[in-house]
Amino acid sequence: MHLPFEKRFPSELNRDHDYYMSHAYNHALLAWEKDEVPIGAVIAHEGTIIASAYNQTRSTNDPSAHAEMLAITQASNYLGDWRLSNCILYVTKEPCPMCAGALVIARIQKVYFGISDPKMGCLGGATNLAQLPESNHKFEAVGGILEKENHILLNAFFEKKRAEKKNCSAEDSDT
Ligand code: ZN
Repeated sequence: MHLPFEKRFPSELNRDHDYYMSHAYNHALLAWEKDEVPIGAVIAHEGTIIASAYNQTRSTNDPSAHAEMLAITQASNYLGDWRLSNCILYVTKEPCPMCAGALVIARIQKVYFGISDPKMGCLGGATNLAQLPESNHKFEAVGGILEKENHILLNAFFEKKRAEKKNCSAEDSDT
């Protein structure tokens, strides 16, 4: 599928937020190529990316195949431990209730996300599952990393989808 966005090439020497989020962004582009909602995630452990995934709900016909869920599974397999206490997740969009819940269960150390989601975001946008008053695992979540790029990408995808839908119904009315 035609991809109107360029991959990012962050410097390996400078492992900052931009570096990790750029990798998450590149995975979001892979999702776009497969006609999936372009959301990507990576998990870093001691500075190294140990998991990277993109949303695959359509291709796998699985509502749980969000980028974060797939990355959590990869990271747990890699470490041989379901506790991701020393891991940091980067994701292009604020996690939904399912993913935010799984991040609490996985005892993630910290989360950085791109765009916040006031409708379904559960790390501060709509609500915050990382800070439940009685929970025994709380963590910090910070949004706004590569926000503009992630926003443009996601918006372009939904615009494209709307245009496709419009074209489809126009063809239907022709016949
Ligand atoms: Zn999710």
